[in-house]
Amino acid sequence: MSLTGKRAVITGGGSGIGADMALAFASAGAEVTIIGRREAALKAVADQHHCIHLAVVDVTDEAAMVAFFAQLGRVDIVVANAGAAESAPFAKTSFEQWQRMLNVNLSGVFLTLREGLKQLNDGGRMIAVASTAGLKGYAYVGAYCAAKHGVVGLVRALAIETATRNITVNALCPGFTDTPLLAASVDTIVAKTGQSAEQATSHFESTNPTGRLVTPAEVSATALWLCGPNSSAITGQAISISGGEV
Ligand code: NAP
Repeated sequence: MSLTGKRAVITGGGSGIGADMALAFASAGAEVTIIGRREAALKAVADQHHCIHLAVVDVTDEAAMVAFFAQLGRVDIVVANAGAAESAPFAKTSFEQWQRMLNVNLSGVFLTLREGLKQLNDGGRMIAVASTAGLKGYAYVGAYCAAKHGVVGLVRALAIETATRNITVNALCPGFTDTPLLAASVDTIVAKTGQSAEQATSHFESTNPTGRLVTPAEVSATALWLCGPNSSAITGQAISISGGEV
C-alpha cells in the first residue's frame, strides 16, 4: 500500500507502537513527523529512515501543541498514540495519578486531534491508539481505563462531525502489546508481588486467547489499512487488535 505524497504526524513515535508505525508509514512513502518528550529516543527512530522527522513536544502542553501544528502546516494523517499506564488499587489511586493518566491519555489525544484537525486535508485520516482498556475493565488501572474509554467516546463523536469532509476517525484497541510500556508493567508486578518476570509476562500473555502478546507490527498494519483508499467508509470505530480478547 502506498502513502507516497502523504504527510503524517505520530505522537509518541520514539518507542513501541509509535516507532513501529513511523517506520511502516515512512516505508510506505509518507513523510512522517514523530513527536515525544525524549529527543534521543525520537532521534534513534528518525535515524532509521530519511522520511522521518522529529519534534520534541509534550502532548499535554496546550501552547506547545498549538505552536507545533501551526508551524507544521497541512497534513493527511494524524495518529494520537502517546500514552502511559500507571497502576494502583483504586482506593490507593491518588488524585495526582488520576490527573496524570487523564492528562496524557485523554487530554493529550484531545489536543492532538483538535490541533491536527485544523491542518488536516479533506479525505484525511485520524487515528487514536486507545486500548482494549477502552472497551473493557481491568483491575488496578482504573484511571487508565477511564481515560481510554474517554478516547473511544471522543473518536465516535469526532467521526460524526468530520464525516462530510470524508475524514475518518478511528480508535485502535490493542490488547497487551510487546513494547517498553508493557515491560515497565512487568517490572512493577515483579517489584510489588515478588513474581518472576516470566510469571508476570505469562499473566499478560494469558489474557489473549492466542496465548501471546500482540506485536507492534500488527497494530501498524491496521493503521496502514485505515490510511489506505479501501477503508474510506470505516469511521467512528473502535477496532480491537487483541487475538479475540475483546
Ligand atoms: P511506549 O513505548 O511507552 O510508548 C509511549 C510513547 O508515548 C513514548 O514514546 C513516550 O515518549 C510517549 N509519551 C508519553 N507521554 C508523553 C507526553 N506527555 N508527550 C509526548 N509523548 C509522550 O508504549 P506503547 O505500548 O508503544 O504505547 C503506545 C500507545 O499504545 C499508548 O497510548 C498505550 O496506552 C497504547 N497501548 C499499549 C498497549 C501495550 O500493552 N503496550 C496496549 C494497548 C494500548 P516520551 O517518553 O519520550 O515522551
